[in-house]
Amino acid sequence: MIDTATALALVLSHGSTSGKIAEVDLGDALGHVLATDVISEIDMPPFRQSAMDGYAVKASDTDTYTLIGEIQAGADNNPQLSAGQAVRIFTGAAVPDSATAVVMQEKVEVKGNEISLQIPLHPEMNIRPQGEQIKKGTVALASGTTIKASHVGFLAGLGITKITVRGKPSIAIVVTGNELVPPGKPLPYGKIYESNGAMLKASLSGLGYKDVAIVRIADDYEDTKKVLQESIENFDVVVVTGGVSVGDYDFVGKALHAIGVEEIFHQVKQKPGKPLFFGRKEDTSIFGLPGNPGAALTSFYIYVYPLLKTYEGADEVNLTSLAMPILFDFTVNGDRAQFLKARMQGNGVAILGGQSSAMVRAFGDANALVFLPENSTEIKKGTLVKSILLPHT
Ligand code: AMP
Ligand code: MG
Repeated sequence: MIDTATALALVLSHGSTSGKIAEVDLGDALGHVLATDVISEIDMPPFRQSAMDGYAVKASDTDTYTLIGEIQAGADNNPQLSAGQAVRIFTGAAVPDSATAVVMQEKVEVKGNEISLQIPLHPEMNIRPQGEQIKKGTVALASGTTIKASHVGFLAGLGITKITVRGKPSIAIVVTGNELVPPGKPLPYGKIYESNGAMLKASLSGLGYKDVAIVRIADDYEDTKKVLQESIENFDVVVVTGGVSVGDYDFVGKALHAIGVEEIFHQVKQKPGKPLFFGRKEDTSIFGLPGNPGAALTSFYIYVYPLLKTYEGADEVNLTSLAMPILFDFTVNGDRAQFLKARMQGNGVAILGGQSSAMVRAFGDANALVFLPENSTEIKKGTLVKSILLPHT
């Protein structure tokens, strides 16, 4: 059985940047990955800008200055100051070329037409230099960046309205199991509600993947082959949940082989998610996740998410991880590597109760997965553990 690092490396090595390049409106770009560098067409700020409400002055050797006017934010006046003259100025306004500093209004005493400075002047104080944030003609955002709200603001601030991004993969979530009943229907004895489909679709939606279908199959070999074949033909990524284990009715592995999917790996030395399958057929990546919802969601974040980001050409494909001190002693069961639902709080990370693969409830309280490598035993309070930040979705 392969280890988690090998499994992830195999997933990444079989993924490729395949998303089609397209131009989108900046307002629709959240969560998309930039396909080209964005070059700024302007300096930001575009002019020497006041960082304060106060007075722009031209330095002289006295502390008293004569007021000769006012510059509001957005105004285009550029008065010529002589040494010893000042203008009233406001935050964001263009500082006159002739001014050498801006003094905040709290540090000035005003007497009619005169102001006297309560602090020493330093050249360029409280003035944001032209192009301080970014210079015209330089890279504002690099190709491979996943667009966040702050990026949208930054690019809008440069006057940009459209950017070039990579398309996202289409994804089929294939749920398997005769015991599954769609939510909203009566629940006969022996059945459970199907929840992986809704959960994975919701997570994908929050991450910006909208071309997602939920496909259901019964635990029937012929049906499994047929539906998997169709899904592989019609989608870029196929995520199967359930039926990849070793039970008599776990047909997914056998069906995938029968329809010509190349097995890259099947089974990983980890908990949860030991039965994980990954394969490829032509340009389609196929995951077989365990059916247990907790295990399915963990495997999704650790293995499926990086493949999706690879498809889009993102420069960071894994979720961010940090080394955090564990807040309580923890005893590991078994020798497999562990992904544990955890909560980063205060100065450390706490492993949550309810780790069973079947239970997804603790995930709701989790903001991280703690990774403990194979053969971990007693983890003492204060030990640094790898904490993988979960997205808010
Ligand atoms: P399996 O991997 O098919 O052996 O399923 C493992 C466990 O997960 C079983 O208890 C299944 O009933 C449950 N399970 C499988 N698929 C789903 C699903 N889509 N929604 C909720 N539970 C599921
Ligand atoms: Mg099953």
